[in-house]
Amino acid sequence: APAETPQIVVDAHGLPYLNAELPVRRRVADLLSRMSPEEKAGQMTQAERGAVGSGGDIAAYDLGSLLSGGGSTPTPNTPEAWARMIDGFQLRARATRFQIPLIYGVDAVHGHNNLAGATIMPHNIGIGAGRDPQLAEKTGAVTAAEVRATGIPWDFAPCLCVSRDERWGRSYESFGEDPALVQSMETVIQGLQGRADGRDLSRDDKVLATAKHFAGDGGTEYGSSTTGTYTIDQGVTKVTRRQLEDIHLAPYATAVRRGVGTVMPSYSSLDIAGDGRGAVKMHARGDMIDGVLKDRMGFDGFVISDWNAIDQLPGDYAAHVRTAVDAGVDMMMVPYSYKDFSSTLVDEVKAGRISERRIDDAVSRILTRKFELGLFEHPWADTSGAAAIGSPAHRAVARRAAAESQVLLKNSGGLLPLRKSEKVYVAGSDADDLGNQTGGWTLTWQGASGTHTRGTTILQGMREAGGDVTYSKDASAPTDGYDVGVVVVGETPYAEGVGDVGNGHSLQLSAADRAAVDKVCAAMKCAVLIVSGRPQLIGDRLGGIDALVASWLPGTEGEGVADVLYGTRPFTGQLPVTWPRSESQLPINVGDASYDPQFPYGWGLTTLTGVPRGGTATLHALAVAAAAAERKGAGRAGRALVAKARLLVQQKAGERMTEAVAKPFADADHLLLTGRYGKAVEKLIEAYRAV
Ligand code: BGC
Repeated sequence: APAETPQIVVDAHGLPYLNAELPVRRRVADLLSRMSPEEKAGQMTQAERGAVGSGGDIAAYDLGSLLSGGGSTPTPNTPEAWARMIDGFQLRARATRFQIPLIYGVDAVHGHNNLAGATIMPHNIGIGAGRDPQLAEKTGAVTAAEVRATGIPWDFAPCLCVSRDERWGRSYESFGEDPALVQSMETVIQGLQGRADGRDLSRDDKVLATAKHFAGDGGTEYGSSTTGTYTIDQGVTKVTRRQLEDIHLAPYATAVRRGVGTVMPSYSSLDIAGDGRGAVKMHARGDMIDGVLKDRMGFDGFVISDWNAIDQLPGDYAAHVRTAVDAGVDMMMVPYSYKDFSSTLVDEVKAGRISERRIDDAVSRILTRKFELGLFEHPWADTSGAAAIGSPAHRAVARRAAAESQVLLKNSGGLLPLRKSEKVYVAGSDADDLGNQTGGWTLTWQGASGTHTRGTTILQGMREAGGDVTYSKDASAPTDGYDVGVVVVGETPYAEGVGDVGNGHSLQLSAADRAAVDKVCAAMKCAVLIVSGRPQLIGDRLGGIDALVASWLPGTEGEGVADVLYGTRPFTGQLPVTWPRSESQLPINVGDASYDPQFPYGWGLTTLTGVPRGGTATLHALAVAAAAAERKGAGRAGRALVAKARLLVQQKAGERMTEAVAKPFADADHLLLTGRYGKAVEKLIEAYRAV
């Protein structure tokens, strides 16, 4: 606790809400019954820490919550400084009438990414490629431990967006284009929060999670607005009711069952075919937030708005406030306009334009989570877990996640894995760039190229693996004498919008990247690694590339990438999204009528060893074994058997898959995700026969 003694205005000791022995429900009811409209409005208000200075407004406005937006970090950016800063704010909250603790939130979307030295995981698209629910859960657990150890109990993650168009700049925040894949990765919620009933939230290594952005954020249409700007980010999702349910709402039903503590609506608008309403902003959709999420799905946590999202609603400011609150948004992220928001809310309630019942419900939901997090009993930052931040054990999880996320798209002549005896010429913009490898939401909102945090680049990882490696970023003088060239190219970091700003919305590699690939691949056998948040267009260049790897944004542990390159671990990743041939195909998703991508959804070669040779007889044996694994609940064994069956199909199919093969192949993938290993292999037998 801070040395300063909190100034307690009212001695609240002895009041029921402070009695930890009582059930949370009673504590909430007791506290709520004592609160004024101003105090209630304060609980519903979240300000940016940079806007409140040393925190005087916390007591003046009874603020319930603060956040650090992306890159809003204390100086120095150390665990101790975070803890001190948050304790300082908490001290201000202690000076309010009921000493209601603040709840502090950050975007820790791939590890504790605002903290220097934290363990940075692959972005969600790579986790989706890994298709390993247990590992996804572990990445959540590491993130939670590092976040809570700096005094932060709330994380605005995971993004449950189902990305349907790669031109969306947040595609990398999606686990994939298939709702079933997204659902299977929601184990990350347990990693963050612990048990679904909320009983683990008070632990010093768990945080409250946020499922975002509800709903349809990944389904926005590409196109230009009247002002000529591309509006795919925060744009309009046009769907039938069926598509809305099956694609965009399904992941939330799972998240609610998993007990996710908070949900953030999307900036985007929803346009449901035939409902006659046209495009309506999600923050105004009471039918969805109140109706579907809370009533139908039974979500009992609280809804936090997105950053300034209410400003995008129609009408004057009072109308913004009424619309969002009435739609079911319980807490407003109003980073710099917290005074306007809370005073307007009070006015609207006093004038009877917003019902007291509604704000009582909102405040109850917020207080419930604060009690569950144990903030009333333990408001101060517990930094006992800080020693584990960036520790070898945590980095080992990120390294494995990076390795599992790598998708081997092509491997002519078995070029990969590399042998340590081979002379390797490494080139390209992303071979030795930690910033590019970690992407957006890393120390700053947008992220940045270069070395700005602790970790190993892919090049360093290869060197540490003992490879015989020579490096030239711009591929100068790739003269002979090398056995293999490894060219690592891709995007530079970005967070939202249309993606790589230098490249606009384009999915083309930059001219420099293309030149590096061409130069090296003309001179020697080459493997190309693409470090990016979404597929990049390779087109005809594919013919000249011997091995191609989708590396996604692997995070701080370049060694994980080196692990698969050198065969310490097999390649097992599978495409979480369809890899298009050209921009004219977009949007392209598995199941589309004219599906003819460069690589289909679910594609991924494996370098698993011990794969039996042979035809359908072998596959049948695998099906029997997989069904047995399924019955025993042996997930790891089941997945390995399915992987072997997949490999047999791929070996027979070569690098091009016809629709007749791709369809059962994708079906198998679905079954794999839901743990139906036996049926998955049966589908693969169908695919094998269709080759
Ligand atoms: C993003 C959210 C994020 C929020 C707070 C917004 O720009 O859309 O995903 O949680 O900022 O940083």
